[in-house]
Amino acid sequence: MKNEKILVVGGAGYIGSHMVKDLLSAGFDVITLDDLSTGHRDLLPGGTFVKGDLGDPKVLDRLFTTHNISAVMHFAAFSLVGESVENPLKYYLNNLAATATLLSAMIEYRVKRFIFSSTAAVYGEPVQIPITETHPCNPTNPYGTSKLAVEKILCDCDAAYGLKYVSLRYFNASGADESGMIGERHARETHLIPLVLKTALGEKENIRIYGVDYPTPDGTCIRDYIHVSDLTHAHLLALEALMSDKESAVYNLGNNQGYSVREVIDLAKKVTGKNIPVIEAERRPGDPARLIASAAKIKESLGWQPRHENLEAILKTAWLWHQNEAAKGAAGGGSI
Ligand code: UDP
Repeated sequence: MKNEKILVVGGAGYIGSHMVKDLLSAGFDVITLDDLSTGHRDLLPGGTFVKGDLGDPKVLDRLFTTHNISAVMHFAAFSLVGESVENPLKYYLNNLAATATLLSAMIEYRVKRFIFSSTAAVYGEPVQIPITETHPCNPTNPYGTSKLAVEKILCDCDAAYGLKYVSLRYFNASGADESGMIGERHARETHLIPLVLKTALGEKENIRIYGVDYPTPDGTCIRDYIHVSDLTHAHLLALEALMSDKESAVYNLGNNQGYSVREVIDLAKKVTGKNIPVIEAERRPGDPARLIASAAKIKESLGWQPRHENLEAILKTAWLWHQNEAAKGAAGGGSI
């Protein structure tokens, strides 16, 4: 597979940058397309970079005519649940319409392998835990709806054009590359682990716990955290499967283990050795009490095995990254 060209859409983002690193290490030729609306040029570990919009047919024409692309991995989506409720059209235009434009260019240029970053948000409120891929899909917000709609489009494109795809439904992506050189950086951070670690660093005064009256043992929400490098490893296995002409498939990616918000904060205190002041706040609308994945299907079908199952180990990698980011900030460096 060496020298095959892979187009990574959104390769300058959190998960995309880790993917580019893994693809380059595995010997692939990588082209990143990113408009840098939420990504960062300095996070990109290498390969060819094209700044542009995935929904722009001219950009796509140029890309597919210049490069002989074997497969496309698509990470370029907006992913904030709350924002999607406030501004659904932003989500439908980017996550859905622009993705349809990308797929249409792929079909025109006969590129027929696609790996899609989907989400646990396609399931909505769980009716059974752990969640398997056959669980009903009733998303409770436009973000989840936009991702589920793309999954439906992919299924139609397989039937009509023979597009082969793997859709990976991520649970809570977390952690950072072990080098500490790439990690999670969002202009407007809303995720629990980065916010907890920024509080440990003193960049935030406290962490708000959104809801302490959920029907869980300590009253706070339970999530299934998966290390970003375990996610990218699953993409490599999915790519191999598509390269060996396997059928399209949908897989969950999680650890089958739940941690409550309070447990995350307590483990972060242990890992950082810092005090992390907490404020108990109201519930955040749209948060299910408990989300835990069954990833049995991808383990069985593709032989995927997580290497960072333990949340303490995941937090250590994120802590290294956030400390490095803080040091860059102090030295006047930081994001581009
Ligand atoms: N959360 C919290 N305080 C924060 C951010 C998140 O209590 O400042 C909670 C949130 O309500 C959810 C869990 O932490 O129960 C994980 O939230 P995150 O935004 O990291 O991921 P999500 O599960 O929404 O994709």
